Amino acid sequence: MERRKFLEFSSLGLSAITFSSFKSSSPIRKPIVISTWDAGIEANKTAWKILSIGGSALDAVEKGVMVTESSQNCCVGLGANPDRDGFVTLDASIMDHQFNCGSVAFLERIKHPISVARRVMEKTPHVMLVGEGAQQFAVAEGFPLESDKLSNDAKKAYENWLKKSEYNPIINIERTKGNNAFAPPKLETGEWNHDTIGMVAMDANGNLSGSCTTSGMGFKMRGRVGDSPIIGAGLFVDNEVGAATATGQGEDVIRICGSHLVVEFMRQGLNPEMACKKAVERIIKAKGVEKSKQIQVGFIAINKQGDYGGYCIQKGFNFAVCYAEEKNFLVDGKFIL
Ligand code: ASP
Repeated sequence: MERRKFLEFSSLGLSAITFSSFKSSSPIRKPIVISTWDAGIEANKTAWKILSIGGSALDAVEKGVMVTESSQNCCVGLGANPDRDGFVTLDASIMDHQFNCGSVAFLERIKHPISVARRVMEKTPHVMLVGEGAQQFAVAEGFPLESDKLSNDAKKAYENWLKKSEYNPIINIERTKGNNAFAPPKLETGEWNHDTIGMVAMDANGNLSGSCTTSGMGFKMRGRVGDSPIIGAGLFVDNEVGAATATGQGEDVIRICGSHLVVEFMRQGLNPEMACKKAVERIIKAKGVEKSKQIQVGFIAINKQGDYGGYCIQKGFNFAVCYAEEKNFLVDGKFIL
């Protein structure tokens, strides 16, 4: 191993990791798209239509997650969980192969926050717009202002949540009060599943892009913004190295700049799965094992070879993978606790 690589390697304290953790020398697998959770299967289908005919990774990751944003049955987009005051507020980010990025946060009544994020990236000198300003920009760009009515499922869940709600800003109260954001959804009791889709892709030209869109944690405090719209936390792309995205308790992803960290671990030579694992370990180290047992965070990543991987804190996270030889299958994330 050349000296520089060796130094990076030993400074990570990775002596126990085998060489199989490092990037492979097999032919580059491209195009490829992966996305979080099982809703990723449908999203990947649309992304794949674009990638398989030579379209850009950027178009693929935007159009892919729009499928999930449109779904009224899912916990992403306007059909999703409201905040504690009964309003659906959305966060999204997008990043291309040239470090261009855009995001929106605390956006209300706009169906496709991911497309607004792309407009922020392409049409403004800024990276992030929030709240009223983001909505104003979206409307000026021709995005229709949708109704603020909750979807039927979200209304039911919210009414149910209200029955025992305590306006208590303790993080993860969803879990402790029986509204575990990571348990299988039980709409009749107000228990909902995860609330994010993150997608990363490499196109036939070998360029990487990523997207991430969410309604955030269910019944969150009004104004709360998670990791998903924060570049480096919920999403990061470095076209020389790889791309990563996150789902789960955003506060803990922000604390360690999670997706950026995953990409940096890949830069140091780890394959995507090991890079995600190291980032999960960083969260557990920061938070402590006992508190980490109360939350879920999952990362997924791809590198420039088209290797892919994911890791999470605890059982229950999965992600969807699609490339030419293996169309769209679900992988259970390996977990630490
Ligand atoms: N990461 C999202 C957030 O914290 C939530 C999720 O992925 O379920 O807003």
